[in-house]
Amino acid sequence: MFDNTAFAGHESAHHFFDAKTGLRAIIVIHSTVRGPAGGGCRMWSYATADDALVDALRLSEGMSYKNAMADLPLGGGKAVIWGNSKTDKTPEMFRALGRAIESLNGKYWSAEDVGVSVADMAYAAEETKYVAGLSTGKAASGDPSPVTAKGVFLGIKACALRAFGTDDLNGRHVAAQGVGHVGGYVCDHLAKAGAKLTIADVNQDTLNSVAKATGAKIVAPDEIYDVAADIFSPNALGAIVNPKTIDRIKAKVIAGGANNQLSTPDMGDKLREKGVLYAPDYVINGGGIINIAAEISGNYDPAWVEGKVQRLVETLGEVLDQAQREGRSTNRVADEMAIERIAR
Ligand code: NAD
Repeated sequence: MFDNTAFAGHESAHHFFDAKTGLRAIIVIHSTVRGPAGGGCRMWSYATADDALVDALRLSEGMSYKNAMADLPLGGGKAVIWGNSKTDKTPEMFRALGRAIESLNGKYWSAEDVGVSVADMAYAAEETKYVAGLSTGKAASGDPSPVTAKGVFLGIKACALRAFGTDDLNGRHVAAQGVGHVGGYVCDHLAKAGAKLTIADVNQDTLNSVAKATGAKIVAPDEIYDVAADIFSPNALGAIVNPKTIDRIKAKVIAGGANNQLSTPDMGDKLREKGVLYAPDYVINGGGIINIAAEISGNYDPAWVEGKVQRLVETLGEVLDQAQREGRSTNRVADEMAIERIAR
């Protein structure tokens, strides 16, 4: 871990192997300074064990930043399972993962992430209490997407205020990439606010139902970058702002729920030079982890969640304003603020 290029002062990395079920998992704890490390479990067919470790190191550091910016009493951690999520999963494997999580005695709280479902994590929860994002249980918080989407919508308004001088979205043209769980709810909010929508998705059924509900125009997945919109809202994939797409995006604002939107941090600098206002992804999409933190607290309180989301949007505004004042890119200001919050 110490030699790894992704090492950033992480507290620990724990490797687990369970011969009976074939589980190969790594749980990485970046920081417990603000509280127990919180972050989901991803299952992926990594090419090498080192690739799995690098992913866990990066993702756990990212969770420390996300949790700090959402002002949660949580540090950052992540679990990765090395395997094919379509062919290798068994209930017993997730029970073994649960025992691995339990062995850390509450230093790490897990939830679902890419390749892992709520149902999978319910098996893990049979062996440990340190699992959240469940659909049943005393404080179960259920699907976090509506809360994530609410934060994204309010974040889009905060960006609009700064980019266009008004947060009124009536008549504003928004191009949305991905209309799944988060993107679908974001489009509902935008349509209610009077925005004009153009949407793209690779799932035709989802696309049709969102278009029907919101009156959105549909374009092919690759055409979404070229839409002459005011706002581009990525809610599907990572690394969508990259050297190939950056000059195609016409919008003055990029604000959406997808994780890891910039292929590299310097894309944020390029956006600033082009006069595009970028809402740092892990700030604007923190609503989901706020919802999960409410479950971890043992007492799910919707009013607490709502207050935290409002505060998150204010924090986003502070990032945007500081970046503007100092002539720096928003992603670099956000990173600095997160590191400072953890240090404090
Ligand atoms: P989802 O799977 O429900 O939705 C993603 C959508 O993107 C799907 O409809 C999918 O068909 C579509 N898509 C896939 N490839 C595409 C492409 N090339 N072009 C256009 N659309 C494409 O997932 P979700 O839960 O809505 O999450 C969306 C993003 O938000 C992810 O990056 C996720 O990590 C992030 N995120 C989600 C939450 C949450 O609460 N669910 C919280 C924080 C961040």
